[in-house]
Parts: sequence; C-alpha cells; structure tokens
Amino acid sequence: MKKPVIDHDECIGDGICEQICPEVFELRDDGLAYVINENPDESLYDKIEEAVEECPAAAITFEEQ
Ligand code: SF4
Repeated sequence: MKKPVIDHDECIGDGICEQICPEVFELRDDGLAYVINENPDESLYDKIEEAVEECPAAAITFEEQ
C-alpha cells in the first residue's frame, strides 16, 4: 500500500496538489497542504503521482509503507 506524505517544512502552499487531486490533498487556511486520505484507492494513483511531479517544492512523497 502506498501512502502520500507532505513535508510541511518544504510546502509553499500554492495548492497545485489540491488542484490535481482534491480527493487526497487539501490546502488549508494555515497555508499548508494536508493529506486527507492516507490510504487512497489505486484509481487515484496516477493523479497522486502527477501531484508529486508537479509540486514545485518537491514536498510530496508517495511510497510503499
Ligand atoms: S503542490 Fe507542493 S508546495 Fe504546493 S501546496 Fe501541494 S505540497 Fe505544498
């Protein structure tokens, strides 16, 4: 099972991850994105991988746990 994780020391809060995959990522009022689904369905994996690639801060990892 793969788990998405956001490094809050790196996140710059532009919300790109949420735009790509709102099922998994949520930008909050504190200016950071959060993972709202830690066990995403495999049907979301492609969008999560896209968010990993598009995150300008390289703050998202998506790896086997
Ligand atoms: S795309 Fe990256 S930098 Fe932007 S809000 Fe999401 S985790 Fe943060």
